[in-house]
Amino acid sequence: MAVSKPNLNLTPLSAWLPSPRPIVIAGPCSAETEEQVMATAHGIAQQGVASVYRAGVWKPRTRPNAFEGVGSPALPWLRRVKAETGLLTTVEVANAQHAYEALKHGVDILWIGARTTVNPFSVQEIADALKGVDVPVLVKNPVNPELQLWLGALERLNQAGISKLAAVHRGFHSFQKTNYRNAPKWELAIELKTLLPELPIFCDPSHICGRTSTIPAVAQKALDLDLQGLMIETHVNPTEAWSDAAQQLTPDQLGELIRSLVVRSADATPAAHARIDQLRTLIDELDDELVTLLTRRMGVVGQIGETKRAHNVTILQVARWEEIVQKALTQAQAGGLSADFMRGVLDLIHGEAIRIQTSVMNRPHTHAEVSAQA
Ligand code: PEP
Ligand code: MN
Repeated sequence: MAVSKPNLNLTPLSAWLPSPRPIVIAGPCSAETEEQVMATAHGIAQQGVASVYRAGVWKPRTRPNAFEGVGSPALPWLRRVKAETGLLTTVEVANAQHAYEALKHGVDILWIGARTTVNPFSVQEIADALKGVDVPVLVKNPVNPELQLWLGALERLNQAGISKLAAVHRGFHSFQKTNYRNAPKWELAIELKTLLPELPIFCDPSHICGRTSTIPAVAQKALDLDLQGLMIETHVNPTEAWSDAAQQLTPDQLGELIRSLVVRSADATPAAHARIDQLRTLIDELDDELVTLLTRRMGVVGQIGETKRAHNVTILQVARWEEIVQKALTQAQAGGLSADFMRGVLDLIHGEAIRIQTSVMNRPHTHAEVSAQA
C-alpha cells in the first residue's frame, strides 16, 4: 500500500542538536546505580565522540519480575551527568507520568520506545502531556515493521506542537531466524527518509544487533544511507549490566568504533556530481534495455503459450526450466552476481511466464478453434 506523505512542521536538527555527523547518543541500556551512571558518563565524555547521554530509567521488559529500571530516583543522576560532562541527556518515556517526571528533572530529550510506538493510545497520552512544551522527542520504530505506525506516532507528537522530532531505526521483530536481534529491514528507514527528507533519522545498532560483533557494520551502513546519527548502548562494565549485557560496548570500544567509521557526504563535489550523473544516465539506459528485454521475453512467452495451447502441451516443463536456471546461474556467477539474487530474478520471471501462459490456456475457445479441433 502506498503511504501518503505526512505534513510535519519540523525544527531543523541543527537548531536543537548541532553536532557534526554522526551525532552520537551513547549510554547504558539502564541506569543501575549512581556509580555506574557516572562512571559510564565520564568514560563516554573522555572519548569525545558523543553529544547525548542515554539511560533507561523505566524499562519495558518482556516478562515481569525482571529488572524494570530504577525509576525516578535515577533522574537526579542524569542531572549530575549533564553538570559534570556537558552531555545532554535522554530517557525513554512510555506514559504521561514518565514525561512529567523526566521534564521536572531537566532531562533534555525524551525518547519513545519501540513497544510504545506500537500503541496509539500511549503515544497520544504522551503527546497530550507534552502540549506546550518544546522538548525534543526521538521516536523509535514500532516493534513490527509498519511504517504507518511509525509515521502516526510522529504525527501525533507534531500535532501536539512538538517540532523537534527525530526517528530512531532500531530494527523489527521477525519470526524468521536472522543474524540480528531485530531485523534491520533497511527499506523501511529508506522509505521514511524518502517520504520525509527533512526528518532526522538515527540508527540504534545495539538493538538491531543484540551483540557487539556486528555493530560496526550496521553503524557504517546507517551512515552510508545518510542517516544523521547513532544511538549506541555503552556501559562501563557490559558483562555485569542488569539489562542487555550482550550488546553494550565499553566507552573505549565506543570511541574506537566511532573513530573507525567512514563518514561520506551526500553533497558531492562538482566533479563527483558529474561522474555520478554520467553513471546514472548509464543506469537509466540499462533499465530501459532491461524493460524492453523483459517485454520482448514475455511476448515470446505468450507465443509459446499459443503454440502449446494449439498442440495441447503442458505449460510447466520442469526439465526445460532447470536447464534455463542452470545456464543463467553459471553466466551470472561468472559476471560476479550472487546466485541468490539471480535465482530470485529468475523465479519472478518464471512466475510471470507461467501466469501469462495460464491465461492463454484458459482463454475460452473461439468457434474457429472448436471447429478446427472437431
Ligand atoms: C532501549 O533503548 O533500551 C530500548 C528498550 O529500546 P527499544 O525500545 O528499541 O527496544
Ligand atoms: Mn536496551
